[in-house]
Amino acid sequence: MNGVNAMPAPDCIFCKIVNGELPAEKVYEDDRIIAFKDISPKAKIHILAVPRQHITSLATLQPDNSALISHLMMQLSKIAREQGLPEGFRTVINTGPAGGQLVNHLHAHILGGSKLTVM
Ligand code: 5GP
Ligand code: ZN
Repeated sequence: MNGVNAMPAPDCIFCKIVNGELPAEKVYEDDRIIAFKDISPKAKIHILAVPRQHITSLATLQPDNSALISHLMMQLSKIAREQGLPEGFRTVINTGPAGGQLVNHLHAHILGGSKLTVM
């Protein structure tokens, strides 16, 4: 861990879900990440995968976050498969206000379950 991304952020919804202070419909967890259903799904299946550690966004990643981020990426297809998306899925990571990021705790959206439009 490092100084920028080390501590839970006091008002962070996703830190509260990680800590069990707020409920969420978890679909996957391990020692480094958790995945849960989005409260307001934008596709038939909409999962959020987040590191347990509070990292604000891709823009604040530090070199010593690389193993954690690699682990997060490596689990996405496994989580998608387990959620019934063997044919494919979309991942989205919004970054910063101009990128549409509303929750400032790094997360990957996993979307699928119906044919998504080509981007
Ligand atoms: P962003 O726009 O930051 O990339 O996406 C944040 C996502 O978090 C949104 O899709 C929103 O529906 C979801 N979200 C916000 N608050 C909660 C919550 O309390 N619980 C869950 N499960 N999802 C949330
Ligand atoms: Zn957080």
